[in-house]
Amino acid sequence: MKNFTHLHVHTEYSLLDGFCRIQDLVKQAKKLGMNSLAITDHGVMFGVVDFYKQCVREGIKPIIGCEVYTAPRTLHHKDSKQDSNPGHLVLLAKDQEGYRNLMKIVSTGFVEGFYYKPRIDIDYLKGHSQGIIALSSCLAGDIPRAIMANNLEKARHLVQDYKDIFGEDYYLEVQDHGIPEQLKVKQGLALLSRETKVPLIATNDVHYVKKEDAKNHDILLCIQTATSVSDSNRMKFPGDEFYLKSREEMMDLFYDMPEAVDNSNIIAEKCNAELDFNTTHLPKFQLPPGEEDPKKYLSDLCYKGLAKKYDKVTEELTDRMKYELSVIDSMGYNDYFLIVWDFIKYAKDHQIMVGPGRGSAAGSIVAYSLDITAIDPIKYDLLFERFLNPDRVTMPDIDIDFCYERRQEVIDYVIEKYGHDHVAQIITFGTMAARQSIRDVGRSLDIPYGKVDKVAKEIPMEIGMNIQKAVKNNPNLAKMMGEDEEVDNLIEIAKSLEGLSRHASTHAAGVVISNKPLVEYVPLYRNNEVISTQYTMTLLEELGLLKMDFLGLRTLTVIRDAIENIRKNRDIEIDIDDLEYDDKNVYELISSGHTLGIFQLESAGMQKFMTNLKPDSFEDIIAGISLYRPGPMDSIPTYIKNKKNSENIQYIHPILESTLKVTYGCMVYQEQVMKIVRDIAGYSMARSDLVRRAMSKKKMDVMEAERQVFIHGELDDSGNITVEGALRRGVSEEQANKIYDQMIDFANYAFNKSHAAAYAVIAYQTAWLKKYYPIEFMAALLTSVMGNDKKVAQYIMNCKNMSINVLPPDVNESYEKFTVVGDKIRFGLAAVKNVGENAVQSIIAKREEKAYISFTDFYKRNDGKVLNKRAVESLIKCGAFDSLKVYRSQLMNVYEKIIDNINEDKKHKIEGQISLFQNMQESSIFRENLPDIEEFEEDMKLALEKEILGLYITGHPLKKYEKLLVNKVSLDSSMIDNQEELKEIGIKDGSTVTVGGIITQKKTC
Ligand SMILES: [Zn+2]
Ligand SMILES: [Zn+2]
Repeated sequence: MKNFTHLHVHTEYSLLDGFCRIQDLVKQAKKLGMNSLAITDHGVMFGVVDFYKQCVREGIKPIIGCEVYTAPRTLHHKDSKQDSNPGHLVLLAKDQEGYRNLMKIVSTGFVEGFYYKPRIDIDYLKGHSQGIIALSSCLAGDIPRAIMANNLEKARHLVQDYKDIFGEDYYLEVQDHGIPEQLKVKQGLALLSRETKVPLIATNDVHYVKKEDAKNHDILLCIQTATSVSDSNRMKFPGDEFYLKSREEMMDLFYDMPEAVDNSNIIAEKCNAELDFNTTHLPKFQLPPGEEDPKKYLSDLCYKGLAKKYDKVTEELTDRMKYELSVIDSMGYNDYFLIVWDFIKYAKDHQIMVGPGRGSAAGSIVAYSLDITAIDPIKYDLLFERFLNPDRVTMPDIDIDFCYERRQEVIDYVIEKYGHDHVAQIITFGTMAARQSIRDVGRSLDIPYGKVDKVAKEIPMEIGMNIQKAVKNNPNLAKMMGEDEEVDNLIEIAKSLEGLSRHASTHAAGVVISNKPLVEYVPLYRNNEVISTQYTMTLLEELGLLKMDFLGLRTLTVIRDAIENIRKNRDIEIDIDDLEYDDKNVYELISSGHTLGIFQLESAGMQKFMTNLKPDSFEDIIAGISLYRPGPMDSIPTYIKNKKNSENIQYIHPILESTLKVTYGCMVYQEQVMKIVRDIAGYSMARSDLVRRAMSKKKMDVMEAERQVFIHGELDDSGNITVEGALRRGVSEEQANKIYDQMIDFANYAFNKSHAAAYAVIAYQTAWLKKYYPIEFMAALLTSVMGNDKKVAQYIMNCKNMSINVLPPDVNESYEKFTVVGDKIRFGLAAVKNVGENAVQSIIAKREEKAYISFTDFYKRNDGKVLNKRAVESLIKCGAFDSLKVYRSQLMNVYEKIIDNINEDKKHKIEGQISLFQNMQESSIFRENLPDIEEFEEDMKLALEKEILGLYITGHPLKKYEKLLVNKVSLDSSMIDNQEELKEIGIKDGSTVTVGGIITQKKTC
């Protein structure tokens, strides 16, 4: 046996502790001639699937494992003194049962045993030891610890305990990284092995791939512990021996116990757990009593919905329905659609806003009939095959937008309905980004902040940027590295750490539901109170689990609030899903460019585009949303030109007209590519989707092969025509080639029309609200950005342009949110700084009983506990008492005295006295001793408003210079923080711009 298998290996998923990138790790093992390798991260299985796939790719056997934590007492004991220092134990899966048990053990560590670390205990192991091999682990293992404490008796007992649980699959683990304690432990373990016949296993505690990685690994530890290399008390690995050693190196270390090295191969041979990428684990839908067949139940619901959606159910509609249902059934997705239908129904029944759809699901008439989507796929030529292709079996993917504020209620419903153990949220990993990596490394190396900052800022802020690219493209950076060794070192280390996983968090939208308890398929993780999977979204799909995105969309909340405002203010009920998309006034509004707050059409560049395009149909909006992105943007001029002169549009072949007419001869959608190959060359819908996929992925060889089929058609083995080809349909070879070239050019930019159409619905709805109920809409919009001063200021400016008055907060009129009062908008109290939620609630509740008649009255009725002096001062400064006919200056002068008096009064108040002085107090509410002074100057008033609300409200100090400024500036401050928008209007890093403003503060250093 001339081999060795590493059975104790930490990857980057031992977060900020392991420095092995999985790919490098597996490649190195392969290079060292090893034929198997284990993964044993600390307490987690995050990296298992990636590792498994990488090993298979390299032809190495993957061994799935974990170095778990053992609780000192039981996993339920969580005492700071006794339970905070758990031991280590290495577990490896032998077979499928072992893999499932390992997932359960690791999950239980998080779900039940978490105390600083995910912990399990002997009892739990007893019930889940089948198929698992256990190794006694490093110096932090329970047995090595007992040996180090000279408690051989305890060590002996522990060995016996584990032997009882794991039988011949238990091993005593010896390590030698040149640490003196390891020598003692090694001797102790050898002794115990002779006594108990438990075999020895030699491992190396791998934390980095190569010896020279030790120094970078050390920096990683500094980042983990927020220390620097010069810190003498920090956690540090002794020496540089924690790398993936060769068999020869291991034999040299353990020359006195070669069997411990060879045992690694015996263990490796025992381990044969495999991951299953071929089975799906879709949950079942619980049918109502009396129903037995999900297929029939789904079909019934669909036809019922169909009759509701269309005035006349034509043959075309029923044919499409029949076809979709048969595909859904043959793929086994009946239950899936019922599940989605059910929770959307729950949301709608509970007045939780649901979006009209997103992604490709809007191409399905089944989804439309079930109210899963809200756009007619027939009317807008949306294709089912773009969503589910019978020739390409994939999981259906329906992502749903919900009201931002109530999304969680739907998730909770699903958890309740399918069971806490069948539903979980999904993990996601934050990685070390370029700039952050430089900053972290700089701090760890004790390089002065200013210097590190300068280097970090040389990394351009662009999507897809990394340190390597930056060094190549930014001569400044290269120069800094060449001139300064410290910078060079900094960059080199930062580069080595960049992209490593840094922390685990919960995916914002993903939810997974399975037929059996999730731990049967995926290990679970705990993020405070949220239980999530340990595998990321894409991996879950590969493992056959159903994931869905429950997204929170703020615009839906805005629509809800606007409708609510309309009901309150005008007593009108709006059914927003009932709009026809053909209102000229709405298109006029959009064409005017006043689209601030309108979904998808809000940005400066989009406003400009809309004023040029002058959309006058829903198709124009769909196209607008699809075109306004890098790539398709290039077609915008042609699109606009053709729209204005539609008689000049030229088609390569007349067949194209029916498909390209809606977009004035331009190819805009993926669906158009699919239709063209069908119309010109006679492809089936399913195959046309495969062509579309190949094109969008730029698979050149597939595309060229397909070109021949497109032109000449295809025959099967017995000579039957399977694809007609363009020639047979009267299209010349030249024309066919030209069309094909155009499709290739365009296909990788093409947009999914289903998605654009669904989003165009929301765009239209918001535009409609802004057109017909501008005050109610703007109030809702302002509420949605409360806390974002810049956005609030921008929208208030927009209100002013529309001649809508936005009034300052008022204790007698304001609610928590922005509200509509007649034809004005009243500021929400929640937007006033220093006034807490409780205070706001109290102010509203008390005045609902009776309006406030004076400041004294106000303070007397609001408890001093919820309303401190600072809050009162803020209310005065922003003008919340103006309606009581007192000057802000007067109140600022005396409010503290009044408050002190009232508080003093309350303290001295005792029973009996109340009735005696009651009358006197009542009258004192009116007789406030206000000083006889002038109101603050305008500038002062505005400054105070800005301080408290973050913006000027009753005026603007630059008002008198407005005209001058508009002519001089080239950049509006509302755009300064928005990279995307700056790009849209052509402003790049390094451009010179002119801005106007007020200097509010001066700092000298
Ligand atoms: Zn360990
Ligand atoms: Zn370890």
